[in-house]
Amino acid sequence: MRIDGKALAAARREATAEAVQRRTEQGLPAPVLAVILVGEDPASQVYVRNKENACRKAGIEPRTWRLPADTAQTDLLDLIAQLNSDPAVHGILVQMPLPKHLDEQAVIDAIDPDKDVDGLHPVNAGRLASGLPGFVPCTPQGAIALLESAGLTDMTGLKAVVVGRSVLVGKPMAQLLLERNATVTICHSRTRDLASQVKDADIVVAAVGRPELIQGDWIKDGAYVIDVGINRVEGHLVGDVQTEEAEKHAAAITPVPGGCGPMTVQMLLENTLLAARRQEETAR
Ligand code: NDP
Repeated sequence: MRIDGKALAAARREATAEAVQRRTEQGLPAPVLAVILVGEDPASQVYVRNKENACRKAGIEPRTWRLPADTAQTDLLDLIAQLNSDPAVHGILVQMPLPKHLDEQAVIDAIDPDKDVDGLHPVNAGRLASGLPGFVPCTPQGAIALLESAGLTDMTGLKAVVVGRSVLVGKPMAQLLLERNATVTICHSRTRDLASQVKDADIVVAAVGRPELIQGDWIKDGAYVIDVGINRVEGHLVGDVQTEEAEKHAAAITPVPGGCGPMTVQMLLENTLLAARRQEETAR
């Protein structure tokens, strides 16, 4: 079975739009997401446009700052400070990657953790590791929702293998699976015999960025497979998993495109709504 990420994202977007509508009826403002895009990277421009459109469909207000590629670090940090202190802004997202002269970690560190709807701030990574409420990165949060939508609601005791250990995907993914009582193995570029790890897994999450690295016949019969990878090969997109072969073994698998991508955007909307609610509670 292929898990339809587009359909799940559309259904949840509907629910988000209804929640935003109810807020408006109560006299609360629309949640506001500030988006900062530095430079002209074509892929980043597409991502930002997709996020803006998704926000509008859900009744969330995107406010985008499109800054020139030669923007100085201090100017970017000044803008973030201004957005941090603006009570009308609920979430802040800086589209990565930034031009080379900018220090990405310093930029992430400058965002108020309570407005960090991408969940990248070290405070939010620490909250996740400590089991405290915070903001969880959108892609792994979406991956959990995709597994649940395929009927995998109880992960207790299952062996989960996460391939990739980035701060954006692999590490928070492993934390979320651990929270759900899976037995988690994290693999990376130095892992010996990746195949034997994957062959043993009830849940496989591939977040590597290598086209079809995970071979279809590595997938255990009845396993659940989440393919996070997005790789452009000869003009079209492929994942990190050999989807067609893997599908013969898997109970459920996400396609690329149409799996994790749409859910990542949807989780950003849900995080922004959550940020607005939390800030209103704190202000009370
Ligand atoms: P990173 O490049 O930050 O991390 C890749 C990870 O894969 C690293 O931990 C690396 O190991 C590991 N790795 C590299 N080669 C191998 C290998 N041969 N065997 C095992 N592990 C390997 O990528 P991201 O986590 O940011 O993204 C991963 C993929 O997911 C990309 O294709 C990206 O485009 C996609 N993505 C998709 C999203 C979506 O919305 N669908 C959102 C975010 C990302 P090491 O640490 O040892 O270097």
